Amino acid sequence: MKKRTKIICTIGPASASPSVLEKMMRAGMDVARLNFSHATHADHKRLIRTVRSASKKAGKFVPLIGDLQGPKIRLGELPKEGVELPQGGTMIISTNADRYQEGVLPVTYKNLHLDVKKGDRILIDDGIFELNVLRVSGYRIHTKVVNGGRITSHKGMNFPDSQLHVSSITTKDKADAVFGVEQGVEWIALSFVTGPAPVLAMKRLIKKHTPPGTVPARVIVKIEKHEAIDRFEEILAVTDAIMIARGDLGVEIPAEEVPIRQKEIIEKCRQAGKPVVVATQMMDSMIRNPRPTRAEVSDVANAVFDHTDAVMLSGESATGKYPLQTVKMMAKIAQEAEASTYDDVKLSMDHDRDLVSASSLAVKLLALRGSIDGVLVSHILAPWSETILKSRPEVPLFLAVGSDRQARQLAMGWGAQPFVMKTQNERTFVRTAIAKLTKDHLIKKGMRLAIVLGERHGEGFDLVEVR
Ligand code: PGA
Ligand code: MN
Repeated sequence: MKKRTKIICTIGPASASPSVLEKMMRAGMDVARLNFSHATHADHKRLIRTVRSASKKAGKFVPLIGDLQGPKIRLGELPKEGVELPQGGTMIISTNADRYQEGVLPVTYKNLHLDVKKGDRILIDDGIFELNVLRVSGYRIHTKVVNGGRITSHKGMNFPDSQLHVSSITTKDKADAVFGVEQGVEWIALSFVTGPAPVLAMKRLIKKHTPPGTVPARVIVKIEKHEAIDRFEEILAVTDAIMIARGDLGVEIPAEEVPIRQKEIIEKCRQAGKPVVVATQMMDSMIRNPRPTRAEVSDVANAVFDHTDAVMLSGESATGKYPLQTVKMMAKIAQEAEASTYDDVKLSMDHDRDLVSASSLAVKLLALRGSIDGVLVSHILAPWSETILKSRPEVPLFLAVGSDRQARQLAMGWGAQPFVMKTQNERTFVRTAIAKLTKDHLIKKGMRLAIVLGERHGEGFDLVEVR
């Protein structure tokens, strides 16, 4: 049985070679993530070409995510040897300084002095360093050093207590998004989103730059700001997918709340039928070591038990020493977790009273009882058919789509096995689809399929035995 939980790998120097990428795809990598915070468009262009050709060789639909940097606020330029933040002492941040000068730290956000107030925490470098605002005078923010140490240039900063007035999509993000769309990425990820507005703005921008007749890139929102937790429902309503970006989120809100938010967010996404990704530090120690810690193994398994669609690797696959081993290990953990009963979505009778929900429930029940060996849905004839899969029937889920691009786009969803049928019509769909899946050795004679297609079937499904 194929692994159902999808694995997203951030691509970087450790995974930029065609042969490594192809091996990673064969080992369980399903999605490639480009981090636009690093490297040039020329570098990304090369990576995109490599991913495309590796996926062809691996015989797999591998979507690309272009992950925009967003309005990440960073320290400015510091001396090479860094700057010592004196534990218990004081430090000044100035929005008017270009580089470090005598105890004054520069910062990239020029209105920061207007947005922080006395008592606000300022966290630097994933929360390793902590400052507390004492007072603001002019451009200068005077702080007390709560957690000190030696700090170096361009480290990221988080402001868990402040409402920042930064625009969610920067000039660089716009240029990167247009570049990504022109390069044909299937997904655009938005960082540091605080509400629904930038999601809608990004969708407009994507549409504007997508050639007519092409399926536009979908948008995935990274939940990594305290404001995004407060406005989650509004964001979910307008986005196509969600990423639980635990790196920044765990600094923006207390780290101990992240596992609870993870469960809540995953459940809401599943109810909405939108893919959700658990990201960051899942196999962190494998950046350096050939084996993960037991805590990391549990983290990946528990994300599967929480019913995530996908798990993500960052440094592990981009810059780590063991990218291939990490994917192999992650795939093994997912597969083992899926084989247990802890990942099963419970059959719930308190569903909505509409036909799609009822059909979803019925398909789930048939799968549970071993009465079907697969589900076949037509994404063209019944665009709502994906929602039938909300109940997570644990049988192969064949999604018939109209183009390779659409197949790649849908490949991120839990258990999804998209395949391409350029022309689909009600009369011949079942016959043609079964012929194609049989030819590809995905189904065989005697298998029973629940088939979801268009109008004629209302919002229900048919049962067919493969001959
Ligand atoms: P990043 O986002 O890797 O772009 O920072 C993920 C996270 O914050 O967890
Ligand atoms: Mn982040």
